[in-house]
Amino acid sequence: MSLEAITFDLDDTLWDNGGVMTRTEQGHYAWLDAALAEQAAEASSGRFAARFPLEAFVARRQALATAHPPRRGDFTWLRRRALAELLGEYGLTNEHAEHWADRAMERFMALRHEVEPHPEVETLLEALGRRYRLASITNGNVEVTRLPLGRHFPVAVAAGELLAPKPDPRPFLLAMSRLGVHPARALHVGDSWEEDALPARRLGMRAAWIGPDDRPMPQGIHRLAHVRELPELIRWLEARS
Ligand SMILES: [Mg+2]
Repeated sequence: MSLEAITFDLDDTLWDNGGVMTRTEQGHYAWLDAALAEQAAEASSGRFAARFPLEAFVARRQALATAHPPRRGDFTWLRRRALAELLGEYGLTNEHAEHWADRAMERFMALRHEVEPHPEVETLLEALGRRYRLASITNGNVEVTRLPLGRHFPVAVAAGELLAPKPDPRPFLLAMSRLGVHPARALHVGDSWEEDALPARRLGMRAAWIGPDDRPMPQGIHRLAHVRELPELIRWLEARS
């Protein structure tokens, strides 16, 4: 069956996300620490980041994810809630804790969107968008509409905010329904075996998995070393449909 739609994972599929997350994680926390010091908001207990180092923030997010299973994929909620809790324990009033958690999240989101798509991606999406319906499906907290390449995606699904992160089938089905396409006529492209390739395949979509050549490919899943190889795979699939 010929293809009508292509859905894309974002992080580590259209760009390398490792560096972005490190810069974002450290950057917004350091910003918050400096901003509080400047406001002399610090209690007698010293600097915020001295009392609650980054590891404490990470641990608090993990504890919240465990305590609130439906929210485990909603990273924005987990981050904001963890910040507000730590700020409250640091000695800020509720109102100030909420205020600074919001400000830190604004900073986080600004840094989070400083992604650099692979150089081939813009041309690739431009060309594919002329022929296929395109959607993004991410578990991450990037709002694709905030990026220049967002214009290529008429449908953008934030799976974490649906409280149904991939591999849950719901974000895939939501994308299919918004695109008006049957799964059998769609190809999903992503770097996670468990969260992209397998769930897409289970729904009857075809899957392009970006990963190492370290396992046999089941029928319907095709390995790519890089997203730039996608046009070749699509030509091959279309020739056989
Ligand atoms: Mg990914």
